[in-house]
Amino acid sequence: MKVGEWVGEYIDVYEDSLHEKWGPFIRIRVWIDISHPLMRGKMASLPNVRDEHWLEFRYENLPIFCSHCGRLGHPFEKCIGFLELVDNGVEPDLPFGPFMIAKARHNTNKIKMLQTSDGNVLHTDVNFATKASSFFSQLFTTSVIDNDALNVTLPAITSSITADMNVSLLKDFTFAEVEDALHSIAPHRSPSIDGMSAMFFQHHWDIVGPLVSKCVLQILNDGADISAINSAINYHFNPQGGESQTIG
Ligand SMILES: [Zn+2]
Repeated sequence: MKVGEWVGEYIDVYEDSLHEKWGPFIRIRVWIDISHPLMRGKMASLPNVRDEHWLEFRYENLPIFCSHCGRLGHPFEKCIGFLELVDNGVEPDLPFGPFMIAKARHNTNKIKMLQTSDGNVLHTDVNFATKASSFFSQLFTTSVIDNDALNVTLPAITSSITADMNVSLLKDFTFAEVEDALHSIAPHRSPSIDGMSAMFFQHHWDIVGPLVSKCVLQILNDGADISAINSAINYHFNPQGGESQTIG
């Protein structure tokens, strides 16, 4: 694995990253010598591409590192090289920075099993979701309403929402608000429920907008089941009885 060897000693490639549809990247694991500066990237020739390209490297779970010398273990304010330049009246450059930090993808946080308070062990996503949903609904539900306590507590809380504010808060969500929310998402970020990036919805809003908005508004305004989003979107792209369409 050539890319891995440029950075350090190649360990393995995460198969999952090859199947991510949202961006041209590959996620690999390598040993690196941390006494050297981190590599920001490398000029590389790619198969079937004439010109060399700059491949950028990103690192997951980076500990503190120096924006001046690119080494791990100290911030640039404490970097000997940086401070020497400052002492000599030279303004040091900061070629390394937070842009080199890769957000750890879901793999690192993935729940593989869940043990319930009665000792059952759950293994599937569906079971996790059901358990989590019932746990939180029980957490915020009381079996007994203590009216005496409510009568003492509620009057002691001063209201900070005016009647006008309340009216506007109670208003139904609108199509325009759904579209605004979509455009507030960075294009390459994935809403993740169907694996398609925000860019897809932003660019094709004239086609998918009415159906997606309707679906979202039914959830926000009418309390519809959010799990229906997945099947609604699948249905739209794979209409039954018609020709199945593939996206991406
Ligand atoms: Zn340094």
